Amino acid sequence: MTQQFDCLIEDCDFTARGETEDELMMQIEQHRQGNHPQLDVSEEEIRRNIRTI
Ligand SMILES: [Zn+2]
Repeated sequence: MTQQFDCLIEDCDFTARGETEDELMMQIEQHRQGNHPQLDVSEEEIRRNIRTI
């Protein structure tokens, strides 16, 4: 099963995909640090937006 997460920022077209939620969390955190350093989103909110595709 593949998990997918679309960035919460509307104009951002970043999508993370991975086999596990932990793998995704790492990609998302890297993306956030590199692109939205001021964005403060809780881990819970990120996990709520992860879908299985
Ligand atoms: Zn983004």
